Amino acid sequence: MRMYTENHNEMVAALAKDLRRSKTEAVLLETQYLMTDLKNMLNNLDSWAKPERPSKGFVNMLDDVVIYKEPYGVALVIGAWNYPLQLLLLPMAGAIAAGNVVVVKPSELAEASTQFVVEMLPRYLDNDAVIVVEGGPEETTELLKQKFDYIFYTGGTNVGKIVYAAATKHLTPVTLELGGKSPTYIDGTVNIEVTAKRVLWGKFINSGQTCIAPDYVLCSKEVQEKFVNAARNVLKEWYGEDPQKSPDLCRIINSRHFSRLQALIEASKDKIAIGGQTDPRERFIEPTILTNVKGTDKIMEDEIFGPILPIVPVENAYEAIKFINSREKPLTLYVFSTSKDVVANIVDNTSSGGMCVNDTVMQMGVETLPFGGVGSSGIGAYHGKTTFDTFTHQKSCLIKNFSPIGEKLGSIRYPPYSDKKLNR
Ligand code: NAD
Repeated sequence: MRMYTENHNEMVAALAKDLRRSKTEAVLLETQYLMTDLKNMLNNLDSWAKPERPSKGFVNMLDDVVIYKEPYGVALVIGAWNYPLQLLLLPMAGAIAAGNVVVVKPSELAEASTQFVVEMLPRYLDNDAVIVVEGGPEETTELLKQKFDYIFYTGGTNVGKIVYAAATKHLTPVTLELGGKSPTYIDGTVNIEVTAKRVLWGKFINSGQTCIAPDYVLCSKEVQEKFVNAARNVLKEWYGEDPQKSPDLCRIINSRHFSRLQALIEASKDKIAIGGQTDPRERFIEPTILTNVKGTDKIMEDEIFGPILPIVPVENAYEAIKFINSREKPLTLYVFSTSKDVVANIVDNTSSGGMCVNDTVMQMGVETLPFGGVGSSGIGAYHGKTTFDTFTHQKSCLIKNFSPIGEKLGSIRYPPYSDKKLNR
């Protein structure tokens, strides 16, 4: 905690350097988030780490039945660049709290944040318990050849498969926090102004470089029209006439990702309803909304991970469910509707890592909700107590005594066997 409080300005500065992140987003989405999580952990650690005594049956009435919380041993935590502090330090703290020693590998793409971690962790933490390894794919490949007792990886699905394959060689358990295209279904029952604000905020924080950003919208043509009109007002109110001049919009992490996003806008030129401007000198991409997009369009192939929001018209919730189920299971699924039936229908008939109804991204802040993917969006989960549990082996133990009554009751298991002893 001291590292966070004494170096708060440095953390905010590192995020500004890497992503031109505003102070508000840096505080809300990384520094404050990290501190709240740590406080929660410190307040509850004793009860989380305490041996559990689960209920027991008649046969074990005289015995102790205990689940001990055992650290795995050496954990490897590999972080991603988009929330370069939170995604690395939050699981690291959980791994330490559970009693593990940790090797942390920050993302090489977020250079200033990596520098912060490299300088600060050795100053504040036990150097025998935590070490930082810097590097990109080559160094990580070497690292993954080692035998770890737990691997926690955050990043894209393709590299997730590489990490999983490496872990399999040593039978190392993993958590894979991956990505994917998170859909957002909006029906005609909602307050469209509030819906537009909540969807656009989730999409445009960190300039769309958020694993749980709404990737695309599914709605009817009527809702699409209302949404775009509301979005136009919201974006003008938030970012002004010239969004490039707004201090509140992040920049794209590097030129490779910038070119990828620019090419997506280029390929969707005829569908731009709002935005579309780009500037390679600053790696700036204007918040962009595309309308009447088809499921087969290029923009619908991979996770966008940038400030471009395509809207795919569907007739109704049934069509939206069909569309969602025809694709990989997403990390998050957003539904905007005041109809309990529509929400229940989507909850019951789709699969996703998590869901949020009538808002975006805010589910991440609920520490009692496990956060993770399913299928190609990930394996395992963390946040709050789940982080502690993730890095903990639950060692179950039956403790017997030598009481003559217990021995007599249990003697049925000894030979010579007989039906009489079995009582049948
Ligand atoms: P990235 O490029 O930072 O890569 C992630 C990590 O993998 C880095 O530490 C990197 O050094 C390492 N790496 C890269 N190539 C490797 C290789 N060939 N072998 C071994 N290690 C390698 O991040 P990214 O993958 O661009 O991150 C973006 C993706 O991460 C998006 O898909 C996003 O949705 C996902 N993500 C998921 C979550 C989540 O919590 N589920 C959070 C953030 C990002």
